[in-house]
Amino acid sequence: MTTLQHIQPLSFPGVEKDAPVIVAGPCSAETEQQTLDAARALSAMGVHVFRAGIWKPRTMPGGFEGVGDRGLAWLQRVKRETGMAVATEVATARHVQAALDAGIDILWMGARTSANPFAMQDIADALSGHDEVTVLVKNPVNPDLDLWLGALQRIMGAGITRLGAVHRGFSSAGAHLYRNDPQWHIPFELRRHAPMMTILCDPSHIGGKRKYVERLSQIALDTGFDGLMIESHCHPDEALSDSAQQVTPADLAAILGRLVVRSGLPVDDELALLRQQIDDCDHELLAVLARRMSVSREIGRFKKAHNLRVVQPARYQDMISARLEEGASLGLDTAFTQHVMQAIHEESVSQQLNLVNDSTENNTSDEQQE
Ligand code: PEP
Ligand code: MN
Repeated sequence: MTTLQHIQPLSFPGVEKDAPVIVAGPCSAETEQQTLDAARALSAMGVHVFRAGIWKPRTMPGGFEGVGDRGLAWLQRVKRETGMAVATEVATARHVQAALDAGIDILWMGARTSANPFAMQDIADALSGHDEVTVLVKNPVNPDLDLWLGALQRIMGAGITRLGAVHRGFSSAGAHLYRNDPQWHIPFELRRHAPMMTILCDPSHIGGKRKYVERLSQIALDTGFDGLMIESHCHPDEALSDSAQQVTPADLAAILGRLVVRSGLPVDDELALLRQQIDDCDHELLAVLARRMSVSREIGRFKKAHNLRVVQPARYQDMISARLEEGASLGLDTAFTQHVMQAIHEESVSQQLNLVNDSTENNTSDEQQE
């Protein structure tokens, strides 16, 4: 059985070996002229694939929901006139059919669709037998790797082998620098499940503002993404959707010109030595964590024997403030220390709760002394 482990990298005409594939184009096709203007400019600067949404699932009603089927002819014209492969988003089986009939090369599923297993299954069924088409699955809006894997597996189950993924960040509550929190560990984890599969990064939807596109693109290239999907519009401020994050083709050319493509190959001796040190640190960290959890379970037994609550808020506050101070004095970022300490504390609490509620754990004081 084919699994994601076996999905091969996509190949795109015009992309040199080990170079990133560049997919660019407006968030939405708005008019035939706007679509062609962007496509001509992007093709002239060597963009490999042209993207434009014609069916736009918007969060709020009343937003621009795309020009619909008539945009397909505009994409066909882009393909004919520029030779670029063309890509658009599909969200229903009907979109799939219309896009396949129009000879669209690449179909992608957006974040609101990949979060919905029924929608993904309908799309997969509509794609069944069309192994000529390339399919890209964006991550679901919520930070759930399994949902993303499930969406990819449904498409794979339809016999699609030209399959890739797009990381566009995750919705999250509260104020954040970026529109969609990158949570880079999730696409890195996806890479473990699909080591050869093409994974692109969409810095436009992660950043939400055009000023973030370059730095997010550089991070993506430095962390092993295979290419970029970037929104580009000749007049971004007038765009009918996602205007704050789109860049002009000229700005995109400048950004691409500044990006550094570094080698993914291992390794000279110095790097190997540094990596050895990292491995050593990680071994130490894990051993310390294991020791800490064992002490924590000991405390759990004590609390059980003395009928004490597992969480003592005052102790927690004191511990966190002391650790933050200590971390800062060691040059650690405070938010980072907090994040780590909270995760460790959460695990301790959960170990103690298991213990306190486990009736097979004896609670006589003799047996607490291990
Ligand atoms: C898009 O690519 O224009 C889009 C709507 O993306 P997402 O599904 O990532 O929000
Ligand atoms: Mn968009």
